[in-house]
Amino acid sequence: MVEKACRVCGHITEGRKCEICGSDDLSAKWKGVIDVIDPENSKVAADLKITKPGKYALVIE
Ligand SMILES: [Zn+2]
Repeated sequence: MVEKACRVCGHITEGRKCEICGSDDLSAKWKGVIDVIDPENSKVAADLKITKPGKYALVIE
């Protein structure tokens, strides 16, 4: 399976749709990954406006 990054929320998914926001606007080109486990207690997650656990791309091309 090829991983793709959601252009809307940055979530990395192996499906055809983003599991977090439901968008199908996915990019195969992205740089950097952040693994968010506990978004409520993560400053980085707050900065990136991530509210749900998962893998997120930092830069989406
Ligand atoms: Zn998304």
